[in-house]
Amino acid sequence: MEDLIGKVFARLTVFEHDGTRGKNSYLKCQCSCGAVKSVRRDALLSGDVKSCGCVAKEIAAAGKARRAQKRLERQRNRPLAKAK
Ligand SMILES: [Zn+2]
Repeated sequence: MEDLIGKVFARLTVFEHDGTRGKNSYLKCQCSCGAVKSVRRDALLSGDVKSCGCVAKEIAAAGKARRAQKRLERQRNRPLAKAK
């Protein structure tokens, strides 16, 4: 089995073996956000897991920010629309 210690998968850097659970081997990874997460080896290799979960949070936050921005724009445009 190829040693993945020190390898980087997207935001995750493998730094330690974390044993096996059932048929799956786990690797301890440090995310670029600083969080440490135990990730299934196959999920890491297949690219299913790219971060500790902070990416999903960021995407959600970005979506929220975008929606808030749109709402602001609509509010800003309202008086203009009225003036027409
Ligand atoms: Zn993270």
